[in-house]
Amino acid sequence: MRRGSLLDISGLRVIFHTYRGTIKALNGVELWLNEEERLGVVGETGCGKSVTALSVMRLIEQPGEITEGSIWFNDKDLLKISEEEMDRIRGKHISMIFQEPIAALNPVFKVGFQVAEAIAHSQGVTIKDAYPQVREALEMVGLDWQRTIDLYAHELSGGMAQRVMIAMALAVKPKLLIADEPTSALDVTIQAQILELLDKLVTVSQSAVVLITHDLGIASEFCDRVAVMYAGNVVEIATSEEIFSQPLHPYTKGLIDSIPVVGRSKELVGIPGVVPDLVDPPSGCRFHPRCKKVFDKCHAELPSLSQVKPNHYVACHLYQ
Ligand code: SF4
Repeated sequence: MRRGSLLDISGLRVIFHTYRGTIKALNGVELWLNEEERLGVVGETGCGKSVTALSVMRLIEQPGEITEGSIWFNDKDLLKISEEEMDRIRGKHISMIFQEPIAALNPVFKVGFQVAEAIAHSQGVTIKDAYPQVREALEMVGLDWQRTIDLYAHELSGGMAQRVMIAMALAVKPKLLIADEPTSALDVTIQAQILELLDKLVTVSQSAVVLITHDLGIASEFCDRVAVMYAGNVVEIATSEEIFSQPLHPYTKGLIDSIPVVGRSKELVGIPGVVPDLVDPPSGCRFHPRCKKVFDKCHAELPSLSQVKPNHYVACHLYQ
């Protein structure tokens, strides 16, 4: 049964073959999204946020492999369509911006050419025919187009490069924008500007957004709903308000308790232990070695993501 009208990921498993063994990176991810909705995906480094995003773009390459699951986008399972069809969807209906914008741009082409190329790809026109739209795209993200059009990636600041990436991603008015840690490589003052710009532009383009971040505060401020990932699974999904006011999963509670709040007298509590090695992950619930509420069943059985309240889903045996 479809849960999201735009995107519905079900039972997604991804592995990576390495010299140390097989990394079980995604362990049956469940996520869904409606048109124009914004979903934040949060979790520690290595929890599978970016692998999930790359799976949606079908950009998992060897030694990685998608072994199970489905990714429905509109009326198509992206894991079942041809590479040509996926190429048409990528860049036209689904765009992505990355954490390191300068590295994501091509170092040997000028900015103007790269923006024109993105527009040409999405509209099925020649790069020459797309050029007149470059000015509008760069102005849309607050850049001086005449100055920027002839620059190379290495001549841009981080903030400018991310604006160029946003121009390329949103000039095509995608149905879905995936933003993978779009501000984490930027200065704090620039971070706020970029988020504000994104907020404004996705409202205009009516794009749904998957915002990947390790910052629960950014996710809840920018998004309608937040999904928390741990060691390759989505462990909780709720509205942005509820994830903070009524978190249920022990890991989400731990994440919230470890956020410093100015003026709060309560002592900061970290989550004990470390994230597991996904070559040899813990049995059952992958959080069980770090969980204060662990009981017998947690060692043996992986809890499934179940609805406990309207719009609130948890993967924990305490609630099943
Ligand atoms: Fe903790 Fe068990 Fe719930 Fe996992 S399933 S979070 S170990 S209580």
